[in-house]
Amino acid sequence: MAHHSSVPSDRHFTHDHSAEVFAANFGTRAIHAGQNPDPVTGAVIPPLSLSTTFKQHGAGDYNGFDYSRSGNPTRHAFETAVAALERAKYGLAFSSGSATTATIMNSLPAGSHVVSVNDVYGGTYRYFTKVAGALGVDVTFVDLKDAANVASAIKANTKLVWVETPTNPTLRLVDIKAVSEVAHQHGVKLVVDNTFMSPYFQNPLELGADIVVHSVTKYINGHSDVVMGVAVTNDEAIYTKLAFLQNSIGAVPSAFDCFLANRGLKTLHLRMRQHAASAQAIAEFLEASPYVENVIYPGLASHPQHALAKRQQKGFGGMISFRIKGNLATANKFLQKVKFFTLAESLGGVESLCELPATMTHGSVSPEDRAALGITENLIRLSVGIEDTEDLLNDIKQALEGASK
Ligand SMILES: *Cc1c(COP(=O)(O)O)cnc(C)c1O
Repeated sequence: MAHHSSVPSDRHFTHDHSAEVFAANFGTRAIHAGQNPDPVTGAVIPPLSLSTTFKQHGAGDYNGFDYSRSGNPTRHAFETAVAALERAKYGLAFSSGSATTATIMNSLPAGSHVVSVNDVYGGTYRYFTKVAGALGVDVTFVDLKDAANVASAIKANTKLVWVETPTNPTLRLVDIKAVSEVAHQHGVKLVVDNTFMSPYFQNPLELGADIVVHSVTKYINGHSDVVMGVAVTNDEAIYTKLAFLQNSIGAVPSAFDCFLANRGLKTLHLRMRQHAASAQAIAEFLEASPYVENVIYPGLASHPQHALAKRQQKGFGGMISFRIKGNLATANKFLQKVKFFTLAESLGGVESLCELPATMTHGSVSPEDRAALGITENLIRLSVGIEDTEDLLNDIKQALEGASK
């Protein structure tokens, strides 16, 4: 094998764990995929491998790992585990969700065109509008409420369609299957950012996506202490190209972060069930409250795409947005009165968070675009954690009452 080869031959997940694990249910995959006990000590939890370099038997003759940017045993175990959660053949981890996006964009030749859903994650929007141009890649944004809209945006040089569903913070859905059919008719690949649903509640590869990306920072790690991203695919050519770029660009996560994120993902199924159960209860409570103008949650019958959510998702997730009756001051009062929801950006951790998109996560979006997207000054976003539901409900109740005084 060549020195510093980008893809050690044993990195394909199928070589790492049995067909039984891959065929098993979600929780079993979360616990077992990529977790082979250490052959030397028998340690049940694979050891954290901090070494940057690996002893070779002869020049260029080694056991799959030669240098830690090119491949690391702890990262490899994590990549295997995440791939199994999406039932994908291949997984690649990056130093952040944003680095994952950047690496995928770097795989396109100069002169390429990308079609993106219009309300993508702010950092993705920033990359598409302020960085991609330097690569010679042009991005067009379209409203994909109607999947057919994607067809009119596709040009001769379009290489990718980029979709996020549900979107942030207004939780609009995109029909992944319908978009993938249109994209594939034109020979275009589909990327889905599956961060909000996590692999537990949505599996875009099964719906026709070619690449699925996650900000591992959110639900997959789930404990708000790691920044990381991942891309998974079943397409060997895409995998080979992205693995080459993972090594060439070098935006890789540390072994320590991979160890933490792997530990986090072992409870993803339990956490997601609790996030969703509490979110449903809170969304229903908010919808019945006289202090609330409206609630956006895909699990409510009032969500305009509730039927699509039921069809394409396996659950409705832990994110809720709602408009409090009143103005910016009322919203701010609510955010200061809650005790178990911490006022902070980010999402997907065990602890509940709340934020005001208009001035926080989406503060850099222009006022016109915010208005068009419905990001009003009374719109509050909740990331429902896994505290006891009753305590979260009581907290919201007292904060709504307090804010409206
Ligand atoms: C956070 C987030 C990202 C970016 O991930 P980082 O790990 O912060 O770089 C991308 N997409 C979505 C939907 C996100 O929520």
